[in-house]
Amino acid sequence: MTEETPTKVDMEKIVSLCRRRGFVFPSSEIYGGLSSCWDYGPLGVELKRNIKEAWWRAVVQERDDMVGLDASILMHPQTWAASGHLEGFADALVECKNCHLRWKADDLAGNSCPSCGGELTEPRLFNLMFKTFMGPVEEEANVVYLRPETAQGIFVNFQNVLNTTRKRLPFGIAQIGKAFRNEITTGNFIFRSREFEQMEIEFFVKPGTDGEWFNYWLEERLNWYVKLGIKKENLRLREHAKGELAHYARACYDIDYLFPMGWSELEGIANRGDFDLVQHAKSSGKSLDYFDDDTKEHFIPYVIEPSAGVDRPLLAFLCDAYDEEPDKDEIRVLLHLHPTLAPIKVAVLPLSRRENLVKVAKEIYADLRQHWMVSYDDAQSVGRRYRRQDEIGTPFCVTVDFQSLEDNQVTIRDRDSMNQIRVPIAALRNTLQAKLSGEELFVLPPGGMIWKGGNE
Ligand code: ATP
Repeated sequence: MTEETPTKVDMEKIVSLCRRRGFVFPSSEIYGGLSSCWDYGPLGVELKRNIKEAWWRAVVQERDDMVGLDASILMHPQTWAASGHLEGFADALVECKNCHLRWKADDLAGNSCPSCGGELTEPRLFNLMFKTFMGPVEEEANVVYLRPETAQGIFVNFQNVLNTTRKRLPFGIAQIGKAFRNEITTGNFIFRSREFEQMEIEFFVKPGTDGEWFNYWLEERLNWYVKLGIKKENLRLREHAKGELAHYARACYDIDYLFPMGWSELEGIANRGDFDLVQHAKSSGKSLDYFDDDTKEHFIPYVIEPSAGVDRPLLAFLCDAYDEEPDKDEIRVLLHLHPTLAPIKVAVLPLSRRENLVKVAKEIYADLRQHWMVSYDDAQSVGRRYRRQDEIGTPFCVTVDFQSLEDNQVTIRDRDSMNQIRVPIAALRNTLQAKLSGEELFVLPPGGMIWKGGNE
């Protein structure tokens, strides 16, 4: 993290919105919470699902050269010996309370941080991996670990995927799943937790083409965030210095986001060379070679790894979308979430609870919810209901009023501009579909009209 000026939103506002509206709760809160574990509430789970679906769509569904995988969280313990995790995380560590760099206690002469002079935490014998026991007897032979990354599940399945899909290089395997790290220091809300989700790709390429694929993935992944609405100026690429590179990496960049606490990593993109496949081949005794039909050569592919979290991007999408606007004597809080990510796409609001209005509104609701997450709200004034939807980022509200009973038309109100159009109920679903895909609000279906500009 650097000492850049923080973004306009402070973390407390995001935490408070998340709590108030049911995006994120502390885990096991009725028991006082569990440090660095979080529960995603009704809106949080939708946002998370949408992030994962957008990623899967971009990296698997819309590509010829990628397939998916869902490996188990518990893996053969030898996996972690081969990958270097068992050895790599078993030191006494101290962490600087200021810059969060971690140091092996044995390497330090004094008790301040060699980098910034900050105060250090107490040394702890530390294995970042959570241990558990498989089978009824707690003996060493049965120790297994909760995976600290999803990547190794991909490497150990490399041959399985190759044999069953007939994919040829270059191709990738993508996976979304939980990972667990017993982090020394945690904090900054869901930024660093002990249980989190990852979206990882291992992209296998012919050695020698790795440099060009590395650059390709840097650009591809950076653009993904921009396409989903993150402001370019809040994103940067940061190259790892030689001394900072992980033992397996030939090159690594982080995609950083300007979080309220400063620039911090959203996703890491590493050129892992052939490290992992070589290690697993050695450790398992199984061949993890690739046979190139064109050159008739056997070799071990190189791997480019774009490794993202789910929780950190979720926090970044929320921070980037958060906005406050003066609204008469109050403040309008709104989330400018991209429609693809918004937890609720449309809210249906009958102007009053009069039976005949409710009947039409409920019919519309029943139709629309077959296509999207839609909410129905008839409590309090329509102005308040608009504000409630703004605050959770719902792109469109559909209002059913008394005139609707006569002309079979309803209004669609846009979250960001507060402009409204009026459209025939028969054209409502298709109109919403077009608007959610990015069509201008004032492009009207036959029979539609501009209803209201701006002010409410
Ligand atoms: P950091 O340096 O911040 O600890 P890292 O470099 O160890 O992160 P990676 O191992 O590269 O992280 O993991 C890939 C991604 O997984 C990260 O970019 C981040 O989005 C996510 N991630 C890693 N650790 C955590 C965590 N403790 N809580 C939430 N997300 C995490």
